[in-house]
Amino acid sequence: MKHAVVQRVPEQPAAPIRPWEYVRMRRRSAGLTIAEAAKPFYQHHDHREDVENNLRMFERPGVRIKRVRDLDLVRAFPFDPGIYTQLADDPAEQHPRLCRRCGWDEWAGGFDRQGNDLRWSEEQPAFCTRCETDLANGGRM
Ligand SMILES: [Zn+2]
Repeated sequence: MKHAVVQRVPEQPAAPIRPWEYVRMRRRSAGLTIAEAAKPFYQHHDHREDVENNLRMFERPGVRIKRVRDLDLVRAFPFDPGIYTQLADDPAEQHPRLCRRCGWDEWAGGFDRQGNDLRWSEEQPAFCTRCETDLANGGRM
């Protein structure tokens, strides 16, 4: 081939992941609906609606959870309040590297669909290996 058929395009910096997106990504990557994620946080059925409404609110654009550590969201799904706080308070260039689909970070551990340790995808470095597999199988973003 005489001429290269591809050309390098300068990479656009990816838009920063916002804190409410992080909450949603982590819940969804655990395969939970709002109703399922709410269950560990109420004992009486009367409280169910409040808890679900709160969880829904945490995922609403522009919402910043103030005392995120006290909420203990990790009781429902893998969630790192330190990362949440960084996403909310720190400039984008200081944000930790997160999977753009599920919010996984390399300190979070976890397994891919084959039961291997989760890693960064080599082909698609914006994603973890589990999301890489899901996307290859037609999974939605
Ligand atoms: Zn992922």
